Amino acid sequence: MQIEQKDQLQQKDEQYIWHSMKRYNPSTMVVKSADGSWIVDNEGKKYLDGMAGLWSVNVGYGRKELAEAAYAQLKELPYYPLTQSHQPAIELGEKLNQWLGGDYVIFFSNSGSEANEAAFKIARQYHQQKGEQGRYKFIARYRGYHGNSMGALAATGQAQRKYKYEPLGQGFIHVAPPDSYRFPDYHNAESYSEHCASEIDRVMTWELSETIAGVIMEPIITGGGVLIPHDSYMKKVKNICEKHGALLISDEVINGFGRTGKAFGFMNYGVQPDIVTMAKGITSSYLPLSATAVKREIYESFKGEGEYDHFRHVNTFGGNPACCAVALKNLEIMEKENLIERSREKGEDLLKALIDLEAHPLVGNVRGKGLLFGIELVQDKKTKEPLPADQVNAVIGACKAKGLLIGKNGDTVSGFNNVLTLAPPLNITDEDGAFLVKTLKEAIYTL
Ligand code: PMP
Repeated sequence: MQIEQKDQLQQKDEQYIWHSMKRYNPSTMVVKSADGSWIVDNEGKKYLDGMAGLWSVNVGYGRKELAEAAYAQLKELPYYPLTQSHQPAIELGEKLNQWLGGDYVIFFSNSGSEANEAAFKIARQYHQQKGEQGRYKFIARYRGYHGNSMGALAATGQAQRKYKYEPLGQGFIHVAPPDSYRFPDYHNAESYSEHCASEIDRVMTWELSETIAGVIMEPIITGGGVLIPHDSYMKKVKNICEKHGALLISDEVINGFGRTGKAFGFMNYGVQPDIVTMAKGITSSYLPLSATAVKREIYESFKGEGEYDHFRHVNTFGGNPACCAVALKNLEIMEKENLIERSREKGEDLLKALIDLEAHPLVGNVRGKGLLFGIELVQDKKTKEPLPADQVNAVIGACKAKGLLIGKNGDTVSGFNNVLTLAPPLNITDEDGAFLVKTLKEAIYTL
């Protein structure tokens, strides 16, 4: 592709492209190419992509095998809808089942939002077909993100993303997330996690168990500021779901495919969810694909003979053969290169190196699991008063000036967006990892 001059491109970009979200830096970076953990803009400047795109390029950039898998499949069979079937989808269904470590049936879509929408519809219909017509409500957590569509956004616990788009899908109730850094003085991280789980129990009781369809949760909240719960939390939530007859939906859109040092985030916590949703890392984002994995006994309830007993849900592109072929190759790379172990081991290394930052007066907390990190900046370690946006942005800007891209998240509605986030490719080299740590430390020490 002919590369145009930066000025020309930026002018056209401003004229024609509607970008996602507001940016802290209004000037658009036009990305031209990428390799390994690095991206290159159209002026030739290189950046280490500390966020792997949108927490999602798990095997890194420049994997020719993935391009070749797509090309070969596009020549053989570019498309057929999954109202019938094709081999790449079948093979991927089998492979995902192995990765999930349970007996699941897979419904394919295109994005994380759609995977969650499918999960909500499946859960509601499942209860109805079991004769429990009243179960329609879902419990989700504040600060969690589940997607941009009217149901997935309703499940999202970030009011700033919903404002001006309401009313959204009905029946979503939010509870506090198990924040292991910010909790009332009379708690510790474990007792607060326990408290947060028991709130779900109370809410289910108050709402009437027989109206609850399920809980949706990311094992580790990511977009809301990388909130790593105490190890006991997810198991407690699963037990509470069982007590009330509700399904547990694990949103693995970011947590999945090795990000947290396990194949899926739930595997850190000794639970087997009823429904698992996934996207991003399934193809390392080389092509769009998502999946809703549903335990077989739930799927079995859709086999009735009644006119409305089957799942009346279709999407044109879900499970496109080339996307499935890329996903299969992507999982093969992850297996061959032991990228789950790499994530766990490299994650431990980097966390050890980053934790020194807690000596800095403005770094309140450094947390991580696998290659997923949050660094919470505060004005005062005692009060945990968040660092103001201009100072947080100064760190991000200093990183960028030195060739490192990092993210930021937080609790915007409460007025803070003070968590620096990192989610590099899982095959980040030792050298690139060292550059990341060194650059971030230098940037923070400019404060
Ligand atoms: N769930 C989670 C946890 C996510 O982080 C995201 C996207 N960042 C989604 C769902 C929605 O995925 P998509 O943007 O592919 O619709």
